[in-house]
Amino acid sequence: MSIFEQMESNVQCYANSFPVTFNRAKGSYLYDDEGNAYLDFLSGAGSLNYGHNPEEIKQALVDYIMADGVAHGLDMHTTAKADFMQTLQDVILQPRGLDYKIQFTGPTGANAVEAAMKLARKITGRTNIISFTNGFHGVTLGAVSATGNQHHRGGAGVPLSGTSRMPYCGYYGYNADTLKMIDKQLSDPSSGIDAPAAFIVETVQGEGGLNVATPEWLLGLQSLAQKHGAKLIVDDIQAGCGRTGRFFSFEEAGLKPDIVTLSKSISGFGLPLAVVLLKPELDEWAPGEHNGTFRGNNHAFITATKALKTFWADENFEKEVVEKAQLVTSYFQAVVDDLGVTHARLKGRGLMQGIEFRNGEIADRITSRCFDKNLIVETAGNHSQVVKCFCPLTIDKADLEKGLQIMVDAIAAEFKTDLKVAV
Ligand SMILES: *Cc1c(COP(=O)(O)O)cnc(C)c1O
Repeated sequence: MSIFEQMESNVQCYANSFPVTFNRAKGSYLYDDEGNAYLDFLSGAGSLNYGHNPEEIKQALVDYIMADGVAHGLDMHTTAKADFMQTLQDVILQPRGLDYKIQFTGPTGANAVEAAMKLARKITGRTNIISFTNGFHGVTLGAVSATGNQHHRGGAGVPLSGTSRMPYCGYYGYNADTLKMIDKQLSDPSSGIDAPAAFIVETVQGEGGLNVATPEWLLGLQSLAQKHGAKLIVDDIQAGCGRTGRFFSFEEAGLKPDIVTLSKSISGFGLPLAVVLLKPELDEWAPGEHNGTFRGNNHAFITATKALKTFWADENFEKEVVEKAQLVTSYFQAVVDDLGVTHARLKGRGLMQGIEFRNGEIADRITSRCFDKNLIVETAGNHSQVVKCFCPLTIDKADLEKGLQIMVDAIAAEFKTDLKVAV
């Protein structure tokens, strides 16, 4: 019996899909303890947008550690933190015309979501937070109350409260205007929906099945929030940091959210780091009112700063992501066209695309077949029916095509057909 079987809690889950022991990782590849290479189309669920151990970033961290740079400093001022904030300001916020203050929360995405929800409630004096069908925001009590997934909600052990669920863009088909429904409910004093402190939304639902909100819907939601005195929180923990092609997933829509949560790939190296961006006028926090021992991880500041300078100071990076996304679309569109809409549908945008199948069993057999061919790829969606391509943004074209071809072959084997993918 392995040490994992002996000791590790049943709560562990990813290793069930990928039952090997990894010990090394570089770029787009993970290596197991027998030296086998696996192409990584999971990327730490979007925490490794720049791949494993990116050389420049690793070197910056090694240099900092060797110079005895501060590793832990509570939330005290450090040069590492100053450099990170200045770089975020100069490389990301200022060129995009965004004006935000930054709150360092505990290091997980859920920590950032908790802080964002708490702040919106404090500012507005209201309790209710509206989240959306199939949304995922983490599993601590506040965050899981905004999460749709029954499996995660069921683990809470107490009644989940303080949130209302509303239909996401396209939930009833893209012809049904869910914003109109929400507006009606919020305008009716007897609808039973309390005035919201905030809306919390993902522009592309990462765990929920790569459901995409249209730019019009997102802008409409922003207006609706204003109309009803609520704050707009964009949870960009998964879709942000370039996953959809731009740094923030809401840039195409031209949104100016009141509050933004970032985590997963913000450290650029897979280190734990989470932040909340808030419009300056919303900064009603009192010192220490929301605290935590690990707010601001100085090693992650070093890697985050280097990632922003390496990838985001150069606008070619965004162009390359868009080109790779087009390649993914062309492969998946060909598959979907071949299989027909009753069997497969294209989901997502940017480098968070996937194919939706009729049920989770089909998707599961496809990802298992991919793993047999040394490709790590996961499912998402309310029935785990979406096979989700989450390659590093930095993947080279040859590896991307190699992985996509493994996916196409696995799908062809599942449907016992030849798929004509000519790109
Ligand atoms: C992963 C994720 C979270 C939660 O982050 P954790 O680090 O797992 O707590 C919240 N929101 C979104 C959109 C996520 O993808």
